[in-house]
Amino acid sequence: MPPPPPPPLRVLIVGAGIAGPALALHLTCLPPPLKCAITIVERHPHLRASGQQIDLRGQGIVAMRKLGVEAAVRARVVDEPGLRLLDWRRGRTQAYLGSNKTGRGAQTFSAEWEIMRGDLCGVLYEATEGLDGVRYVFGVTVEGFEQGGGGVVRVRFSDGREEEFDLVVGCDGVGSRIRRTMFTDGRPDKLVPVGMSCALYSIPPEKGDAPDATFCHLPGRRNIFTRRDREDCLRVQLGYAGEDAEFARVLKHGTVAEQKEAWKNVFRPDMLDAWGIRRYLDGLDSPQADDFYTQEFAQVKVDNWSEGRVVVLGDAAFCPAPITGQGTSLALMGAYILAGEIARACGKDAHEEGANPWDNLAAALVAYETTLRPIVHTVQDVPVKRIVRIMCPESAWFIRLFHWFVWLFVGLRLDRLAAKFGSDDVGTWKLPDYPELSTPKA
Ligand SMILES: Cc1cc2nc3c(=O)[nH]c(=O)nc-3n(C[C@H](O)[C@H](O)[C@H](O)COP(=O)(O)OP(=O)(O)OC[C@H]3O[C@@H](n4cnc5c(N)ncnc54)[C@H](O)[C@@H]3O)c2cc1C
Repeated sequence: MPPPPPPPLRVLIVGAGIAGPALALHLTCLPPPLKCAITIVERHPHLRASGQQIDLRGQGIVAMRKLGVEAAVRARVVDEPGLRLLDWRRGRTQAYLGSNKTGRGAQTFSAEWEIMRGDLCGVLYEATEGLDGVRYVFGVTVEGFEQGGGGVVRVRFSDGREEEFDLVVGCDGVGSRIRRTMFTDGRPDKLVPVGMSCALYSIPPEKGDAPDATFCHLPGRRNIFTRRDREDCLRVQLGYAGEDAEFARVLKHGTVAEQKEAWKNVFRPDMLDAWGIRRYLDGLDSPQADDFYTQEFAQVKVDNWSEGRVVVLGDAAFCPAPITGQGTSLALMGAYILAGEIARACGKDAHEEGANPWDNLAAALVAYETTLRPIVHTVQDVPVKRIVRIMCPESAWFIRLFHWFVWLFVGLRLDRLAAKFGSDDVGTWKLPDYPELSTPKA
């Protein structure tokens, strides 16, 4: 007689962004007889499918393929021909960086796998919603939790319910409540601001809006970035790296109306003659701008990603800050590695008479962190202050110098050489393969 199958692992995933649904999808592919009963709670009343273009690069593309969603993602990629650097006085193109869509070498600014964040959320939601053992609960968050003996986590939800789980995974983004509650020894939260804020929103299109991304540096540590994934709107991203305590306070605690006003004031005093600026600031009041989203960029750098049976994943654990890119790629890599290590550690005892394979979860959580840490460290270990200085320069002469440098780089065709002989991988790190985990069926 074969031993009876182990009971399903009761998993609570907090956050239905990118990392949460990706993990859920992998956890439905554990080797038999391992099974999970997965609950995903999202504090928004529906899928939060806002946000602008995100890209997948290097091992992030490999991780996306492991999810079995390549065709669905491919069908939604944004075909962005390239990036124009604009002169802020007249809006003339100073330099143009074309994309590399050959699938070989390094990608340039406009990647082969550009997709709207909401579309990727949708692909992952559609792939998991309705799967056996996966349950979504919207409009609910976690109020608190206690870890009892025997590896059980007792969770209190915002709707008053209490439930027990064997594993709680915080995929609740950069401001993660799970991360802040996880450490019970009074350690401060490690959210490290990088000194730049952004506002994202859509505005009505105008004749002549190019399909390219445009980037316009403005003196005084400001920039404007636009993208065009569809015909009926233009996506705008305002950037600011000035030191302004009141601005920072409004961004954190203000209403949306106050936040929009704060952004207008950042550009208003001396920049109204700059190219396009009136349109972008007026656009903040257009109906299309109801997708307005603002945040101060920060990196998450915590000493450990799990405590008992509670673990964090994605931006909640290791947000690299959008200026370094790679946030979505890391989230997908992390989801695959966490599920893969669970499959490996717990799968080996799954057929043993009298063994509880889930007892090996602690080893899986340690292996998840040891395997992923090196790439997270490499991605986060960039000179963020220098990058911010280039993205948001103080003086007009620096902008001229930077544009001249890029113009020369492109003129000498060094961008094409870099694309041909470079690589999109960060360092030599490769996503491990977990044959124990089957690929989800599309
Ligand atoms: C609205 C939004 C817009 C974004 N736009 C961009 C963009 O334009 N460009 C870019 O590069 N990156 C953007 N990001 C960040 C990007 O999605 C992440 O860096 C990356 O994909 C990693 O995903 P994640 O799942 O770890 O975190 P996220 O994508 O941030 O997802 C976290 C999810 O958790 C939910 N959540 C938060 N707190 C709780 C809670 N207490 N209880 C339950 N659920 C909770 C959130 O509503 C969200 O759905 C955006 C994120 C959000 C939330």
